[in-house]
Amino acid sequence: MGKHSLYQYGTIGSLMAGAMDGTGTIQEFLTHGDFGIGTMDGVDGELIVLDQEAYKASATGEVIKLGPLEKLPYGAIAFFNPDHTFTLKETLANEVVETKVIEAMKSKNLFAGVKISGVFDTMHVRAMPKQTPPYIRFSEVEQPEFTAHNIKGTLVGFYSPVLFHGTSVAGFHVHFISDDRTFGGHVLDYHVEDVKVEVQDYSELIQDFPKEDVFLEAEFDYSNIAEEISISE
Ligand SMILES: [Zn+2]
Repeated sequence: MGKHSLYQYGTIGSLMAGAMDGTGTIQEFLTHGDFGIGTMDGVDGELIVLDQEAYKASATGEVIKLGPLEKLPYGAIAFFNPDHTFTLKETLANEVVETKVIEAMKSKNLFAGVKISGVFDTMHVRAMPKQTPPYIRFSEVEQPEFTAHNIKGTLVGFYSPVLFHGTSVAGFHVHFISDDRTFGGHVLDYHVEDVKVEVQDYSELIQDFPKEDVFLEAEFDYSNIAEEISISE
């Protein structure tokens, strides 16, 4: 694993179609990086990996530190070493920030990591409630939303090229965790206030898969998968 590799375990498409059982362990996942996102067994909450520590932002609104043997169905992770860094010291909406990140990236046709740390004027997130088998479609799950104002924390996530909508989410898929580790989730929208933006280019994607029969023997319905990902993510 070099500086420019992104490792993905499972795919968003399979997750959406019901591959929600945790299969890989946090311990194994963390051997592939120190910075990442994902979800836990039964799509239980939003996984945030920051500085090699794994946290789960739950649908209850709590943030919990994860142990090594807890399992995930999906995640993306990398060893974060920024290639581009800039600061923003004014109130800007996420659409504007995203445009600046895309300008900083080496190419829209490569994956990129984005880390935004500092003060956010607003942060609007949601978190998946844990599901139990038989799983319904991810897009049918109602997800609680939370908003914080004037909050210090870190946004963690990845940009995927349009071509990969299916294995991941085209464009930005980012999660957030506050500095005091009490607020977090899957980011819906935000305004930055005073932040450092760091961007890493990846020239390599390593795609790994669950090895268990629950995945290998499953019949997935991918007929509306692109639309389901767009609605849900
Ligand atoms: Zn997410």
